[in-house]
Amino acid sequence: MIIQKMLTPLTVNNQSCRPTRTMAPTSITIHNTGNPSANALQHANAQSRGQLASMQMAVHYYVDDTNTIFQCLENNQQGWHAGDGTLATGGNYTSIAIEICQQKGINQVLAFKNAAWLAAQLLVQYGWGTTAIKQHHDWKSAKYPTGKDCPCLLRHATNGINWQGFLTMVETAISEGTAPQPTPPILSYPCAGIVTTNDKSLNLRAAPNTSATILTSMEKGAKLTVLASAQNGWSQVAYDGRTGYASAQYITLNPVPEQPATLAWYRVQVGAYTKKSNADAMSTTLNLAGYDTFVAFANGYHKVQTGAFTNKANAERLAEELKQKGFDVMIVAPSA
Ligand SMILES: [Zn+2]
Repeated sequence: MIIQKMLTPLTVNNQSCRPTRTMAPTSITIHNTGNPSANALQHANAQSRGQLASMQMAVHYYVDDTNTIFQCLENNQQGWHAGDGTLATGGNYTSIAIEICQQKGINQVLAFKNAAWLAAQLLVQYGWGTTAIKQHHDWKSAKYPTGKDCPCLLRHATNGINWQGFLTMVETAISEGTAPQPTPPILSYPCAGIVTTNDKSLNLRAAPNTSATILTSMEKGAKLTVLASAQNGWSQVAYDGRTGYASAQYITLNPVPEQPATLAWYRVQVGAYTKKSNADAMSTTLNLAGYDTFVAFANGYHKVQTGAFTNKANAERLAEELKQKGFDVMIVAPSA
């Protein structure tokens, strides 16, 4: 599983796309999108392009049955998802929102598992127990004084998994070990992409519309370069020496191979701190030096880790490289 950042700007066309405030989150809120026709990428695209601004909707994560989770708000940014406005103790002000997609044809149970994996990551990161996982229904609002019926699918066990079943999935994900995933950097263009059509190939066209000349077709799985952020559903791409346009919904950006969460990981750790601000500072230093980082919280320490390897030699290689650059490094063995 990877978490792909696709962050929401503050405004698009002078319309607010998200609250301006930061928060110190104290919980996670689970939602179902209620949308039968959009997957996680499509939701994330809509939010990050400002298309949800008029609905005052902004959430942190969108999850479906693929191995890519899209993050549209930083965990310390407030969203609009609980319907409880500016109530200081409400969901908008305190909670990280996870939307579980439910588009037609989705493997819904896999989507629940993926959301449970993400929830497990956050619980471990913040040192929370499963009581920190809320339903949208738990937040009361003027419109829904007794709580909205969300996440609807889990509340009604529509797919055979009820709320308790979901919490059990989270506990399982924690016990299997939530492998730290270096978070890919915020997208900048050009970036790598891969054709992710269901089975057909994807047309490369001379202009961003379906009547434009087809320059070539790109097979499912074909690698291409996305030159700019998509506009009106079309991405400008380079493929096989040509430049043209292709439907953005069939292109997954910056793909990283799936890494099974059950493997044992050797983690390269660069410091453990009792103060999160110190860990964040080290994390920033490493980011500036070109290393992706992950801050894990365990046993009272915020541990700054970069890289997780199934092969110990690879971890040792990275540790040596960091030592040469003056960092104080240790390798954390699996299950340590
Ligand atoms: Zn909801």
